[in-house]
Amino acid sequence: MTLCDAHCHLANLSQTMPLKPLFAEAQTRGITHFLSSALTKADLKAYPILRQDCPGTLLYSAGIHPSFDECDLSLQDIIALCDRKVIWAIGEIGLDKGNPDKEEMTRIFVEQLELANSYQLPVVLHIVGHQQEAFDLLRKYPLRYLLHGYAGSLEAFHKFTRLDCFYTISERILREDKRDLLMAMLESGRYLFETDITQYYVHAGELNPLLRLPDVLRQTAVICGWNIATLTAAQAQNYELLTGYSL
Ligand SMILES: [Zn+2]
Repeated sequence: MTLCDAHCHLANLSQTMPLKPLFAEAQTRGITHFLSSALTKADLKAYPILRQDCPGTLLYSAGIHPSFDECDLSLQDIIALCDRKVIWAIGEIGLDKGNPDKEEMTRIFVEQLELANSYQLPVVLHIVGHQQEAFDLLRKYPLRYLLHGYAGSLEAFHKFTRLDCFYTISERILREDKRDLLMAMLESGRYLFETDITQYYVHAGELNPLLRLPDVLRQTAVICGWNIATLTAAQAQNYELLTGYSL
């Protein structure tokens, strides 16, 4: 079994936990690939070292997040990363109902979509609320999207399926009241799995939060009644379609 954690914040996590031994243990459980997100200048400094520490494949994206206060990246930072061809995608970017300055948030989102379009890069999306507005913007661009951790309405989800969009299944939609959304995501065939791990999400006494990924997969298999091999084959295929690398 080869697994990809398709949305995580490993540079952020590495500020409180050395990741080298955690990567090694994760590898023994088949967790070898990571699509990680950089949201700060400090994150950008950490990724080259983390990529060396990771025995598998760690790809990272970078973006100006709609609601993460510590995010200090500028559009110039993102442009420089695009020019150097070091990021696999732009993100996570998007809209979040928790940000009161909707106009500014939308402006920054559009600037980054334009950037993704000019550099022909995929986009990692964070959409919390404002789903119709997000869809109306995204449909204007012929881009490939990875909508991470989506837990909004089923109705809006069906709109996103009209785009070239992939989804990460997170703990958030394993709850009973999100069953229809989980099944719709699975039936789309365009899913991967994520932990969204950051230093803030580590539980007291938790030694290796990277190991949460197989739990998400197992719980999904139990809920939907599909076998693990079907789920892992789909995430491997989707990883290849998104990144161009094989899993
Ligand atoms: Zn995230």
